[in-house]
Amino acid sequence: MSATLDHLGESVTSPAEAEDSREAYLAALDRIQDLALESSISAKLTQLGLNLSEQQCRANVQTLIERAQAQGNIVEIDMESSEYVERTLGIVSDFHPGSVRAVIQAYLYRSASDLQELCRRSIPVRLVKGAYQEPSDVAFPKKSDVDSNYVHLMTQLLDTGVNPAIATHDEKILRTAIEYVQKEKISASRFEFQMLYGVRRDLQRRLAAEGYRVRLYVPYGNAWYPYFMRRLAERPANLLFLLRNLMRN
Ligand code: FAD
Repeated sequence: MSATLDHLGESVTSPAEAEDSREAYLAALDRIQDLALESSISAKLTQLGLNLSEQQCRANVQTLIERAQAQGNIVEIDMESSEYVERTLGIVSDFHPGSVRAVIQAYLYRSASDLQELCRRSIPVRLVKGAYQEPSDVAFPKKSDVDSNYVHLMTQLLDTGVNPAIATHDEKILRTAIEYVQKEKISASRFEFQMLYGVRRDLQRRLAAEGYRVRLYVPYGNAWYPYFMRRLAERPANLLFLLRNLMRN
């Protein structure tokens, strides 16, 4: 399995913090190259200063993309809450063609047209369900609607996307994806599955054993709190899991 490294951090409050994030990612890219690892990096634009200055954020992104490109690697730009979608897609699109992948969230109403535009421009996309609390005027409030929109966007992405990533642990959706690529004779080398490190390891191994490309999203670093809270919100049972392991240790 390959990886994508997420140096934890978001919504930095000073240009110096944004520069620290950029430096951490440059160090990660260099280590990935030194060790010949199959790993990209995944960064959030608010971590690179989007809230402070779009110009500084763009300069930081450019530095990362140039380094990644020189090393034959890519930068995946995570998608944050809906207030950032327009600016994030704008920045990703401006750096294309380059070594960059965008993220589309299936819970947003706007995603079908965003995805169509990204695919039309051959910009690689990672498809996720979406991890932030969003109001009902921008996102489907019902999980069943998010799931069916995910499947709809997934087929659109598999048909027309370049280097697409199907990022979910939803076993039913993953089976649907496999049935679809088999029916449409889409080669396993044309797309990848992505999952969070440590979540549904059984499924990760099974997909890899079946010959599919699997990339694990690996968060690291000290600024773990917002990431951890989003994972808890997705699956409150994780709190019990954590407590049990803390007691055991
Ligand atoms: P769900 O329906 O939530 O879950 C399906 C099943 O997966 C659950 O029944 C459970 O068995 C398992 N599962 C799901 N989550 C957990 C968990 N935390 N712990 C344990 N088991 C779990 N969101 C964004 O908004 N922006 C991003 O840039 C982004 N990048 C991502 C990158 C990757 C590689 C992945 C896998 C997810 C990313 N996400 C991102 C998060 C995503 O939006 C969802 O919140 C998350 O993946 C949970 O949804 P699901 O598709 O797994 O389906």
